Amino acid sequence: MSKATSTAQAAAAAVDHSAHPLPSYLEADNLGPWGNYLQQVDRVIPHLGSLARWAETLKRPKRILIVDVPIHMDDGTVAHFEGYRVQHNVSRGPGKGGVRFHQDVTLSEVMALSAWMSVKNAAVNVPYGGAKGGIRVDPKKLSRGELERMTRRYTSEIGIIIGPNKDIPAPDVNTNDQIMAWMMDTYSMNTGSTSTGVVTGKPVDLGGSLGRREATGRGVFTVGVEAANHIGLEISGSRIAVQGFGNVGGVAGKLFAEAGARIVAVQDHGGTIYREAGLDVPSLLKHVEENGSVGGFPESEVIASDSFWDVECDILIPAALEQQINASNAGRIKARMIIEGANGPTTPAADDILQERNILVLPDVIANAGGVTVSYFEWVQDFSSFFWDEDEINARLVKIMKHAFAAVWAVSQDQKVSLRTATFIVACKRILHTRELRGLYP
Ligand code: GLU
Repeated sequence: MSKATSTAQAAAAAVDHSAHPLPSYLEADNLGPWGNYLQQVDRVIPHLGSLARWAETLKRPKRILIVDVPIHMDDGTVAHFEGYRVQHNVSRGPGKGGVRFHQDVTLSEVMALSAWMSVKNAAVNVPYGGAKGGIRVDPKKLSRGELERMTRRYTSEIGIIIGPNKDIPAPDVNTNDQIMAWMMDTYSMNTGSTSTGVVTGKPVDLGGSLGRREATGRGVFTVGVEAANHIGLEISGSRIAVQGFGNVGGVAGKLFAEAGARIVAVQDHGGTIYREAGLDVPSLLKHVEENGSVGGFPESEVIASDSFWDVECDILIPAALEQQINASNAGRIKARMIIEGANGPTTPAADDILQERNILVLPDVIANAGGVTVSYFEWVQDFSSFFWDEDEINARLVKIMKHAFAAVWAVSQDQKVSLRTATFIVACKRILHTRELRGLYP
């Protein structure tokens, strides 16, 4: 044992961590989302040719900002929250990616999410790098006033690195158009401007784009249909299980149901429900809007949460959080195809099991890229102050998604690699090519 290690261990032993827990970003986390991302990068390096010499760039976030977010609570106390903004790579353009409010947010997670944004943005070829932000908080425990104060203080704290040409946040887990309105206002007040282009996913009356809210789910549906055609899977009459029924899973579920699929099982934080004949999706969406979760939906049976992974289905759509499909459940999944609505829902170990079992995985970095694609449209519309109608937005979205999917499919067939590695090949080549063109400064 080195002297430094033994000194550190002695110091650690002297601190009572139960009274003063370590900040999450100091926790050892080799198997967390960032570890998963690093393994995905290692799988692509042999396919990068001469660009592989720049690959280390992909393993190091460009810039990490950790901020303390203190706010007055309604009861007169002061609470402190831990906030992050990570810019993983900005070779292809400004940083771009959402902000997540969740009690389990860690730096490792935000680092991974920012890196997946770099890959995703390059995969659909929008002119952005990758970034992500988050606050470690359960927003359901805050009043509206507390939520607004926390959002505004966080925006102020990260204000030194965001901006319409620097880094553009957007909604993610537990954040929405109202949060984006507060972020836009705070940034604008601090800079003495009306800066609509600093965030995307805003309310339509405030420079938001038509179709943005549904865009991620619509993209999931679009690539799902494309892939189904390639493997001879008929959407009409197919059985689908969805995990997470919010902005992504809810919209994707609705579009698949409209195309004739049966949504047989849905799971979220409030329960797991099943209906052999297919759930009534419009009623379920209404139920979720009114009750905050699928739990208690009348026209369904409740199943144990772990049985969700055993459901007989053709398509599984994980649209919640990371690492849901892992070595312990990948062997039980019955689907022919998995469409990753969430970011990072499948671990590399599970990827291997699924590939062996011939279950096609449409990876997050292409499958859920519809959201950021319409964010790009929103940003372009904000700059030109000229707004497009919804048909035009949806048509452009579908065109980009189909085109990106076709390119990735061709690489996966050609090089006999998974769709995830194929997407990483296409995207990382684009990122590292711009890296090389720009060169090192100084
Ligand atoms: N949070 C979304 C994602 O993970 C959208 C990001 C954006 O629009 O910038 O892709």
